[in-house]
Amino acid sequence: MKYTDNRKRKIVYISRCLLNQNSRTPGIAVRKGAITELIHIFLNNDLGIEQLPCPECLFWGGVSRKEIYRLQPLAFKSVGRKWFPLIEFFFNIWLYRSNWLCKREAARAVDRMEDFTKEGYTIVGIVGVDDSPTCGVTKTVDIVEIVKNSQTLGISLEDAENPHIEKFRHILQTSRDSGSGSFLGSIMRELRKRQMAVNVVGFDPWSEPQVEADRIAGLLNLKH
Ligand code: SF4
Repeated sequence: MKYTDNRKRKIVYISRCLLNQNSRTPGIAVRKGAITELIHIFLNNDLGIEQLPCPECLFWGGVSRKEIYRLQPLAFKSVGRKWFPLIEFFFNIWLYRSNWLCKREAARAVDRMEDFTKEGYTIVGIVGVDDSPTCGVTKTVDIVEIVKNSQTLGISLEDAENPHIEKFRHILQTSRDSGSGSFLGSIMRELRKRQMAVNVVGFDPWSEPQVEADRIAGLLNLKH
């Protein structure tokens, strides 16, 4: 088939909350809507923007993460008790299921990317979120470890049930570790398995947004 139209054939994939902060876990949305500085760069480069699904919204009980809020009172009240390892075991089983679903969702996302690349489109990059247990690329957090260390980190059950951005800014910044989250990690493994060379980078939502957007533009060879 031959056709002529205006498409540029260049696409960027981004984590859902970069375009819609309303899907972030309650208490950690850093902007009112989109991360505008980053999105402007994509618009100015005439890229098509694809939003990846938000696995936490899908598998953790929707936009309000109801499943986490159901589990956390028991987890917090058990910290330091002799039965905590049992609670940790069940928490890990719950996470294992979530990670398995992320893997399935990652394969579906890469199917759609592969469709583009086979038809001659370029995926200029994938942008995840570098404070997330799910969409982290170079930095992630371990939520079981955060619960385990809640007393040292100064997090009470009250803080966890009524999260405030300033408190969680501090917790996430001090608890981040090198590594990728369950969803973006699975996407990267799936890309490697299919020998698809796509640049995957992580946006740090706690950095100065314009500086961070420019850094991402540099990593993806985009004008800014
Ligand atoms: S980082 Fe990923 S899992 Fe977390 S809110 Fe954004 S899209 Fe959802």
